[in-house]
Amino acid sequence: HYFQKISLKDRLDGELEEHELQLLPSGWQIIGDIIIVNIPEKIWDKKYLIAASLLDMYPNCKTVMQDHGIKGQYRTPDREIIVGSCTETVHKENGCLFKMDATKVMFSKGNMAERTLMSAYGDDETVVDMFAGIGYFTIPIATHANPEKIVSIEMNPMAYEYLLKNIKLNHAENIVEPRNGDCMDVTPEGIADRVIMGYVGTTHKYLKPAINAVKSEGGVLHYHETVPEDLIYKRPFERIENAARGSGRYAEILELRKIKKYSPGVWHVVVDAAIKD
Ligand code: SAM
Repeated sequence: HYFQKISLKDRLDGELEEHELQLLPSGWQIIGDIIIVNIPEKIWDKKYLIAASLLDMYPNCKTVMQDHGIKGQYRTPDREIIVGSCTETVHKENGCLFKMDATKVMFSKGNMAERTLMSAYGDDETVVDMFAGIGYFTIPIATHANPEKIVSIEMNPMAYEYLLKNIKLNHAENIVEPRNGDCMDVTPEGIADRVIMGYVGTTHKYLKPAINAVKSEGGVLHYHETVPEDLIYKRPFERIENAARGSGRYAEILELRKIKKYSPGVWHVVVDAAIKD
């Protein structure tokens, strides 16, 4: 007795032309009770049929949204509702609750392994989460480790609002100290055992405050960068080492993880580095 899920293509067989069936998306993201999909322009006129089939496949979902990508320093998604009305949802992952408005803040499926990995760190530590968003790393650490304190910095007021909600929702008020501001200005100094830099774009510009956040006994940096394939094992290492030297310290590269392809020929990587005096 086994149950095989009927595919989107099979569901729409007979309702769409063969060439339209070929254009159907093969994947989508589910955040809480919202399905986020990218329907190609050529079959956009079939969006209601496609959305209805997706809702049939996932009876717990209530909304279907078209994804037009993620933009700007705040990493704001550009999404439009096809079916449904509620854009706020609570996503469950790894024993954590993430409340968010899917039209206002992002939640990356590709970063799941990294969120889970971070949740294994933090016991008895002071952690500084420099680009905290809605609590992507803060909440898993607060939930699964036993940190002394997490300082979580986020400058987008919309993401910050959900960071506060998620701290409450996950009962982490006593552990997390949220700060609404630019981490160039509000990152604490000399207190961290661990610093997370979970932002891509111009992350290297924030290496100085990140390294200065590490306490004099030393600590670990988790540095995210989007880097062209041929520079993966060079540029992020050099940037960290130079920044450490600039702050009169020393960096030992511990590990590099490839998170996902960011764009053609460009990878999102994370480098773990020990910062020492
Ligand atoms: N790592 C996350 C995940 O697992 O899905 C995604 C990255 S998160 C969206 C990056 C956050 O950094 C955004 O919420 C953005 O508003 C914030 N941010 C960007 N520049 C910042 C700065 N200078 N200071 C504070 N927050 C900043």
